[in-house]
Amino acid sequence: TPHRTLTHPEALEALRNFLKERSSYDVFPVSFRLIVLDTQLKVKKALDVMLLYGVVSAPLWNTSTAKFAGMFTVQDVIHLIQYYYHTSSWEGATADVEQFRLHSIRDIEKALVVPPPPLLSVHPLRPLYDACRYLIRTHARRLPLIDRDTQTGGEVVISVLTQYRVLKFIAVNCRDITQYLTASVQEMGIGSYVSPESNPDPINNPNKYYPLATATMQTTVFDVVHMFSEQGISAVPIVDSDGKVLNLYETVDVITLVRNGAYQSLDLTISQALKQRAVDFPGVVTCSPKDSLSAIFSLIKIRRVHRLVVVQGRDDPNPGRLVGIISLSDIMRALIGHDIPLGGAGVGAEVVDKAL
Ligand code: ADP
Repeated sequence: TPHRTLTHPEALEALRNFLKERSSYDVFPVSFRLIVLDTQLKVKKALDVMLLYGVVSAPLWNTSTAKFAGMFTVQDVIHLIQYYYHTSSWEGATADVEQFRLHSIRDIEKALVVPPPPLLSVHPLRPLYDACRYLIRTHARRLPLIDRDTQTGGEVVISVLTQYRVLKFIAVNCRDITQYLTASVQEMGIGSYVSPESNPDPINNPNKYYPLATATMQTTVFDVVHMFSEQGISAVPIVDSDGKVLNLYETVDVITLVRNGAYQSLDLTISQALKQRAVDFPGVVTCSPKDSLSAIFSLIKIRRVHRLVVVQGRDDPNPGRLVGIISLSDIMRALIGHDIPLGGAGVGAEVVDKAL
Protein backbone atom coordinates (compact mmCIF):
# COMPACT_ATOMS: atom_id res chain seq x y z
CA THR A 1 0.00 0.00 0.00
CA PRO A 2 1.24 3.52 -0.72
CA HIS A 3 2.63 5.28 2.31
CA ARG A 4 0.31 7.85 3.81
CA THR A 5 0.28 9.79 7.03
CA LEU A 6 -2.39 9.28 9.68
CA THR A 7 -4.18 11.97 11.65
CA HIS A 8 -4.20 11.61 15.43
CA PRO A 9 -7.77 10.15 15.52
CA GLU A 10 -6.93 7.79 12.63
CA ALA A 11 -3.85 6.55 14.48
CA LEU A 12 -5.92 5.89 17.61
CA GLU A 13 -8.49 4.03 15.53
CA ALA A 14 -5.73 1.94 13.92
CA LEU A 15 -4.40 1.02 17.38
CA ARG A 16 -7.87 -0.02 18.54
CA ASN A 17 -8.24 -2.20 15.45
CA PHE A 18 -4.86 -3.77 16.20
CA LEU A 19 -6.04 -4.57 19.76
CA LYS A 20 -9.30 -6.04 18.39
CA GLU A 21 -7.35 -8.44 16.18
CA ARG A 22 -5.11 -9.76 18.97
CA SER A 23 -5.84 -11.72 22.14
CA SER A 24 -4.22 -11.58 25.56
CA TYR A 25 -2.25 -14.72 24.65
CA ASP A 26 -0.37 -12.71 21.99
CA VAL A 27 1.07 -10.42 24.66
CA PHE A 28 2.86 -13.22 26.49
CA PRO A 29 5.99 -15.10 25.52
CA VAL A 30 5.57 -18.78 24.61
CA SER A 31 6.81 -19.78 28.03
CA PHE A 32 6.45 -17.82 31.23
CA ARG A 33 6.30 -18.27 34.98
CA LEU A 34 3.26 -17.51 37.10
CA ILE A 35 3.31 -17.18 40.89
CA VAL A 36 -0.08 -18.01 42.42
CA LEU A 37 -0.61 -17.66 46.19
CA ASP A 38 -2.83 -19.93 48.29
CA THR A 39 -5.28 -17.92 50.43
CA GLN A 40 -4.18 -20.01 53.45
CA LEU A 41 -0.68 -18.50 53.27
CA LYS A 42 0.44 -16.00 55.86
CA VAL A 43 1.22 -12.49 54.63
CA LYS A 44 4.87 -12.81 55.67
CA LYS A 45 5.31 -15.97 53.55
CA ALA A 46 3.50 -14.34 50.64
CA LEU A 47 5.77 -11.29 50.76
CA ASP A 48 8.86 -13.51 50.96
CA VAL A 49 7.74 -15.47 47.87
CA MET A 50 6.95 -12.28 45.96
CA LEU A 51 10.32 -10.76 46.79
CA LEU A 52 12.10 -13.99 45.85
CA TYR A 53 10.51 -13.96 42.40
CA GLY A 54 10.59 -10.21 41.96
CA VAL A 55 6.83 -9.75 41.53
CA VAL A 56 4.70 -7.07 43.21
CA SER A 57 1.33 -8.81 42.88
CA ALA A 58 -0.07 -12.31 42.45
CA PRO A 59 -3.42 -14.03 41.89
CA LEU A 60 -4.91 -15.74 44.93
CA TRP A 61 -6.18 -19.30 44.80
CA ASN A 62 -8.72 -20.80 47.20
CA THR A 63 -7.89 -24.50 47.45
CA SER A 64 -11.10 -25.50 49.21
CA THR A 65 -13.34 -24.10 46.45
CA ALA A 66 -10.71 -24.60 43.68
CA LYS A 67 -11.38 -21.06 42.50
CA PHE A 68 -9.55 -17.84 41.74
CA ALA A 69 -9.94 -15.56 44.78
CA GLY A 70 -8.86 -12.12 43.57
CA MET A 71 -5.48 -10.43 43.37
CA PHE A 72 -2.98 -9.71 46.14
CA THR A 73 -1.36 -6.36 45.33
CA VAL A 74 0.84 -3.67 46.85
CA GLN A 75 -2.34 -1.77 47.62
CA ASP A 76 -3.43 -4.60 49.96
CA VAL A 77 -0.16 -4.33 51.87
CA ILE A 78 -0.68 -0.57 52.19
CA HIS A 79 -4.13 -1.20 53.66
CA LEU A 80 -2.79 -3.75 56.13
CA ILE A 81 -0.11 -1.40 57.37
CA GLN A 82 -2.56 1.43 57.75
CA TYR A 83 -4.99 -0.75 59.65
CA TYR A 84 -2.46 -2.02 62.16
CA TYR A 85 -0.77 1.33 62.61
CA HIS A 86 -3.91 2.56 64.34
CA THR A 87 -4.98 -0.54 66.23
CA SER A 88 -1.88 -1.99 67.78
CA SER A 89 1.53 -1.34 69.28
CA TRP A 90 4.58 -1.52 67.04
CA GLU A 91 5.52 -5.00 68.18
CA GLY A 92 1.91 -6.11 67.96
CA ALA A 93 1.50 -4.64 64.49
CA THR A 94 4.58 -6.41 63.17
CA ALA A 95 3.51 -9.71 64.66
CA ASP A 96 -0.09 -9.35 63.49
CA VAL A 97 0.75 -8.41 59.92
CA GLU A 98 3.11 -11.34 59.65
CA GLN A 99 0.66 -13.86 61.11
CA PHE A 100 -2.19 -12.62 58.98
CA ARG A 101 -3.55 -15.07 56.42
CA LEU A 102 -4.31 -13.80 52.93
CA HIS A 103 -7.99 -14.79 52.99
CA SER A 104 -8.61 -12.31 55.84
CA ILE A 105 -7.47 -9.29 53.86
CA ARG A 106 -10.95 -8.62 52.57
CA ASP A 107 -12.05 -8.10 56.23
CA ILE A 108 -9.44 -5.38 56.64
CA GLU A 109 -10.74 -3.61 53.56
CA LYS A 110 -14.22 -3.67 55.04
CA ALA A 111 -12.91 -2.25 58.33
CA LEU A 112 -11.08 0.52 56.49
CA VAL A 113 -14.08 1.16 54.22
CA VAL A 114 -11.97 0.99 51.07
CA PRO A 115 -13.36 -0.74 47.96
CA PRO A 116 -12.33 -4.40 47.64
CA PRO A 117 -10.34 -5.15 44.50
CA PRO A 118 -12.82 -6.55 41.98
CA LEU A 119 -12.84 -10.22 41.06
CA LEU A 120 -12.84 -9.14 37.44
CA SER A 121 -11.07 -11.53 35.07
CA VAL A 122 -11.12 -12.31 31.37
CA HIS A 123 -10.65 -15.34 29.12
CA PRO A 124 -7.21 -15.19 27.47
CA LEU A 125 -8.70 -15.73 23.99
CA ARG A 126 -11.00 -12.72 24.19
CA PRO A 127 -9.85 -9.78 22.04
CA LEU A 128 -7.11 -7.73 23.68
CA TYR A 129 -9.29 -4.66 23.16
CA ASP A 130 -11.96 -6.12 25.49
CA ALA A 131 -9.29 -7.01 28.05
CA CYS A 132 -8.10 -3.36 27.92
CA ARG A 133 -11.64 -2.13 28.54
CA TYR A 134 -11.73 -4.27 31.68
CA LEU A 135 -8.24 -3.15 32.67
CA ILE A 136 -9.22 0.52 32.80
CA ARG A 137 -12.19 -0.40 35.00
CA THR A 138 -10.37 -2.36 37.66
CA HIS A 139 -8.79 -0.79 40.72
CA ALA A 140 -6.29 -3.64 40.82
CA ARG A 141 -4.59 -2.23 37.66
CA ARG A 142 -4.09 -5.81 36.55
CA LEU A 143 -6.39 -8.35 35.01
CA PRO A 144 -6.17 -12.09 35.67
CA LEU A 145 -6.64 -14.30 32.61
CA ILE A 146 -8.74 -17.30 33.51
CA ASP A 147 -9.50 -20.33 31.38
CA ARG A 148 -11.37 -23.56 32.10
CA ASP A 149 -9.85 -27.00 32.24
CA THR A 150 -11.46 -28.95 29.38
CA GLN A 151 -11.63 -32.16 31.44
CA THR A 152 -12.65 -31.02 34.90
CA GLY A 153 -14.34 -27.74 33.93
CA GLY A 154 -12.42 -26.12 36.80
CA GLU A 155 -10.84 -22.67 36.69
CA VAL A 156 -7.23 -22.27 35.58
CA VAL A 157 -5.31 -19.03 36.14
CA ILE A 158 -3.25 -18.56 32.97
CA SER A 159 -1.50 -15.27 33.66
CA VAL A 160 -2.06 -11.67 34.65
CA LEU A 161 -2.35 -8.86 32.13
CA THR A 162 -0.93 -5.53 33.28
CA GLN A 163 -1.18 -2.08 31.75
CA TYR A 164 2.57 -2.08 31.22
CA ARG A 165 2.49 -5.36 29.25
CA VAL A 166 -0.20 -4.08 26.89
CA LEU A 167 1.46 -0.71 26.32
CA LYS A 168 4.86 -2.31 25.80
CA PHE A 169 3.28 -4.74 23.28
CA ILE A 170 1.91 -1.75 21.35
CA ALA A 171 5.22 0.13 21.63
CA VAL A 172 7.14 -2.84 20.20
CA ASN A 173 4.69 -3.80 17.43
CA CYS A 174 2.99 -0.59 16.31
CA ARG A 175 5.74 1.94 15.70
CA ASP A 176 4.21 2.51 12.21
CA ILE A 177 1.04 3.75 13.94
CA THR A 178 2.31 5.35 17.17
CA GLN A 179 4.64 7.62 15.19
CA TYR A 180 1.56 9.62 14.17
CA LEU A 181 0.49 10.34 17.75
CA THR A 182 2.25 13.69 17.59
CA ALA A 183 -0.03 15.98 19.63
CA SER A 184 1.41 16.94 23.02
CA VAL A 185 0.27 15.05 26.11
CA GLN A 186 -0.95 18.23 27.79
CA GLU A 187 -2.90 19.29 24.70
CA MET A 188 -4.50 15.82 24.69
CA GLY A 189 -5.29 16.12 28.39
CA ILE A 190 -3.46 12.85 29.12
CA GLY A 191 -2.59 12.74 32.82
CA SER A 192 -3.39 14.93 35.83
CA TYR A 193 -2.13 18.51 35.79
CA VAL A 194 -1.44 21.19 38.41
CA SER A 195 -4.32 23.65 38.33
CA PRO A 196 -4.63 25.54 41.68
CA GLU A 197 -7.30 27.85 40.24
CA SER A 198 -9.73 24.91 40.01
CA ASN A 199 -9.38 24.06 43.74
CA PRO A 200 -12.97 24.18 45.07
CA ASP A 201 -11.89 24.96 48.66
CA PRO A 202 -8.60 26.93 48.60
CA ILE A 203 -9.14 28.49 52.06
CA ASN A 204 -9.60 25.28 54.11
CA ASN A 205 -7.59 22.97 51.89
CA PRO A 206 -4.87 25.05 50.29
CA ASN A 207 -2.77 23.08 47.82
CA LYS A 208 -0.68 24.97 45.33
CA TYR A 209 -0.37 21.81 43.25
CA TYR A 210 -4.10 21.03 43.24
CA PRO A 211 -5.35 18.44 42.22
CA LEU A 212 -2.02 16.64 42.67
CA ALA A 213 -1.02 15.05 45.96
CA THR A 214 2.62 15.97 46.67
CA ALA A 215 5.02 15.72 49.60
CA THR A 216 8.34 17.23 50.67
CA MET A 217 11.49 15.55 51.98
CA GLN A 218 10.22 16.30 55.51
CA THR A 219 6.80 14.65 55.12
CA THR A 220 6.50 11.35 57.02
CA VAL A 221 6.05 8.03 55.23
CA PHE A 222 2.84 7.60 57.24
CA ASP A 223 1.31 10.74 55.72
CA VAL A 224 2.23 9.59 52.23
CA VAL A 225 0.80 6.11 52.86
CA HIS A 226 -2.40 7.85 53.87
CA MET A 227 -2.45 9.75 50.53
CA PHE A 228 -1.97 6.46 48.64
CA SER A 229 -4.84 4.84 50.47
CA GLU A 230 -7.26 7.75 50.58
CA GLN A 231 -6.79 8.96 46.99
CA GLY A 232 -6.24 5.57 45.38
CA ILE A 233 -2.95 6.63 43.80
CA SER A 234 0.35 4.79 43.61
CA ALA A 235 2.92 7.59 43.56
CA VAL A 236 3.48 11.04 45.06
CA PRO A 237 5.98 13.57 43.64
CA ILE A 238 8.46 14.94 46.21
CA VAL A 239 8.95 18.66 45.63
CA ASP A 240 11.10 21.46 47.13
CA SER A 241 9.74 24.88 48.18
CA ASP A 242 9.94 26.11 44.56
CA GLY A 243 7.93 23.16 43.25
CA LYS A 244 10.98 21.56 41.68
CA VAL A 245 10.61 17.77 41.52
CA LEU A 246 13.28 16.09 43.68
CA ASN A 247 11.97 12.53 43.60
CA LEU A 248 8.90 10.31 43.51
CA TYR A 249 7.71 8.09 46.36
CA GLU A 250 5.82 5.00 45.17
CA THR A 251 3.68 2.32 46.79
CA VAL A 252 6.37 -0.24 45.95
CA ASP A 253 8.83 1.72 48.10
CA VAL A 254 6.68 0.91 51.13
CA ILE A 255 7.19 -2.79 50.41
CA THR A 256 10.94 -2.30 50.84
CA LEU A 257 10.32 -0.85 54.28
CA VAL A 258 8.09 -3.78 55.22
CA ARG A 259 10.66 -6.26 53.95
CA ASN A 260 13.18 -4.70 56.30
CA GLY A 261 10.67 -5.59 59.01
CA ALA A 262 10.51 -2.07 60.33
CA TYR A 263 6.94 -0.93 60.75
CA GLN A 264 8.35 1.95 62.81
CA SER A 265 9.57 3.12 59.42
CA LEU A 266 6.25 4.85 58.90
CA ASP A 267 7.61 7.52 61.26
CA LEU A 268 10.59 8.10 58.97
CA THR A 269 10.67 11.18 56.80
CA ILE A 270 10.65 10.67 53.04
CA SER A 271 14.25 11.85 52.98
CA GLN A 272 15.25 9.03 55.40
CA ALA A 273 13.08 6.44 53.65
CA LEU A 274 14.57 7.20 50.23
CA LYS A 275 17.99 6.22 51.59
CA GLN A 276 16.68 2.65 51.97
CA ARG A 277 15.93 2.32 48.29
CA ALA A 278 17.77 -0.49 46.53
CA VAL A 279 20.95 0.59 44.76
CA ASP A 280 19.44 -0.61 41.48
CA PHE A 281 16.45 1.75 41.73
CA PRO A 282 15.79 2.58 38.08
CA GLY A 283 15.15 6.29 38.68
CA VAL A 284 12.25 8.66 38.10
CA VAL A 285 11.10 9.06 34.51
CA THR A 286 10.12 12.60 33.56
CA CYS A 287 8.74 14.19 30.42
CA SER A 288 7.78 17.69 29.31
CA PRO A 289 4.17 18.82 28.77
CA LYS A 290 5.15 19.32 25.11
CA ASP A 291 6.17 15.69 24.58
CA SER A 292 3.98 13.60 22.32
CA LEU A 293 2.37 10.24 22.97
CA SER A 294 4.63 8.95 20.21
CA ALA A 295 7.71 9.95 22.25
CA ILE A 296 6.24 8.27 25.33
CA PHE A 297 5.71 5.02 23.41
CA SER A 298 9.35 5.16 22.31
CA LEU A 299 10.30 5.41 25.98
CA ILE A 300 8.01 2.53 27.02
CA LYS A 301 9.65 0.40 24.33
CA ILE A 302 13.08 0.70 25.92
CA ARG A 303 12.34 1.30 29.62
CA ARG A 304 10.14 -0.22 32.27
CA VAL A 305 8.11 2.95 32.80
CA HIS A 306 5.23 2.84 35.30
CA ARG A 307 4.45 6.55 35.38
CA LEU A 308 5.95 9.79 34.17
CA VAL A 309 6.31 12.99 36.15
CA VAL A 310 5.61 15.95 33.87
CA VAL A 311 8.03 18.82 34.54
CA GLN A 312 8.81 22.15 32.86
CA GLY A 313 11.38 21.74 30.12
CA ARG A 314 14.81 23.38 29.87
CA ASP A 315 13.44 26.26 27.79
CA ASP A 316 11.07 27.28 30.61
CA PRO A 317 11.97 29.91 33.26
CA ASN A 318 11.44 27.19 35.91
CA PRO A 319 12.96 24.02 34.50
CA GLY A 320 12.13 20.91 36.56
CA ARG A 321 9.04 22.46 38.13
CA LEU A 322 6.11 20.07 38.68
CA VAL A 323 3.45 20.28 35.97
CA GLY A 324 1.62 16.96 36.23
CA ILE A 325 1.75 13.20 36.40
CA ILE A 326 0.91 10.63 33.73
CA SER A 327 0.08 7.11 34.86
CA LEU A 328 -0.19 4.10 32.58
CA SER A 329 -3.94 4.07 33.23
CA ASP A 330 -4.14 7.63 31.83
CA ILE A 331 -2.43 6.41 28.64
CA MET A 332 -4.69 3.35 28.44
CA ARG A 333 -7.79 5.50 28.78
CA ALA A 334 -6.52 7.81 26.04
CA LEU A 335 -6.14 4.81 23.71
CA ILE A 336 -9.41 3.06 24.49
CA GLY A 337 -11.43 6.27 24.68
CA HIS A 338 -14.92 6.69 26.08
CA ASP A 339 -16.32 3.48 27.38
CA ILE A 340 -19.75 2.21 28.31
CA PRO A 341 -19.81 1.86 32.10
CA LEU A 342 -20.30 -1.56 33.66
CA GLY A 343 -23.36 -1.86 35.86
CA GLY A 344 -23.03 -1.98 39.68
CA ALA A 345 -20.09 -0.95 41.88
CA GLY A 346 -19.84 2.53 40.34
CA VAL A 347 -16.40 1.65 39.02
CA GLY A 348 -17.46 2.15 35.42
CA ALA A 349 -18.97 5.53 36.15
CA GLU A 350 -15.72 6.71 37.70
CA VAL A 351 -13.79 5.64 34.64
CA VAL A 352 -16.13 7.53 32.33
CA ASP A 353 -15.60 10.71 34.39
CA LYS A 354 -11.88 10.50 33.90
CA ALA A 355 -11.96 9.32 30.28
CA LEU A 356 -10.96 11.68 27.49
P1 ADP B 1 -2.20 3.62 37.78
O1 ADP B 1 -3.70 3.70 37.86
O2 ADP B 1 -1.68 3.56 36.38
O3 ADP B 1 -1.59 2.59 38.65
P2 ADP B 1 -1.96 5.82 39.64
O4 ADP B 1 -2.61 5.04 40.70
O5 ADP B 1 -0.67 6.47 40.00
O6 ADP B 1 -1.65 4.99 38.35
O7 ADP B 1 -2.94 6.93 39.10
C1 ADP B 1 -4.35 6.87 39.11
C2 ADP B 1 -4.92 8.22 38.65
O8 ADP B 1 -4.58 9.24 39.58
C3 ADP B 1 -4.40 8.70 37.30
O9 ADP B 1 -5.45 9.31 36.57
C4 ADP B 1 -3.32 9.71 37.65
O10 ADP B 1 -3.20 10.74 36.69
C5 ADP B 1 -3.79 10.24 38.98
N1 ADP B 1 -2.65 10.49 39.88
C6 ADP B 1 -1.50 9.78 39.98
N2 ADP B 1 -0.69 10.28 40.93
C7 ADP B 1 -1.33 11.34 41.47
C8 ADP B 1 -1.02 12.28 42.50
N3 ADP B 1 0.14 12.23 43.17
N4 ADP B 1 -1.94 13.22 42.78
C9 ADP B 1 -3.13 13.27 42.12
N5 ADP B 1 -3.48 12.43 41.14
C10 ADP B 1 -2.60 11.46 40.80
